[in-house]
Amino acid sequence: MNPHLVGTQEIKVTRDRYKLCPSCSNYSHYAESHNYCIMCGAKMICECPDCLEPILYPTAKHCPSCGTGYGVKFAEAVKMELKMKTG
Ligand SMILES: [Zn+2]
Ligand SMILES: [Zn+2]
Repeated sequence: MNPHLVGTQEIKVTRDRYKLCPSCSNYSHYAESHNYCIMCGAKMICECPDCLEPILYPTAKHCPSCGTGYGVKFAEAVKMELKMKTG
């Protein structure tokens, strides 16, 4: 416990957001218009698939808020979801 942090931890400067590739862990800045990974062609994600927390760390592998992985399992889940939606 650091008493100096109490009450100040909610103060956040404007932070960058990133898009991550769930397949190969490539990333790009949120402002880039990359919907798909330039390395492997997977769909980029820009927020936590579970709690929709923005991705603030380009090297993150898991959501810092809920712990959900950003990895391949999610990519596969999205593919399945898309298949279901498109019939
Ligand atoms: Zn990729
Ligand atoms: Zn989350």
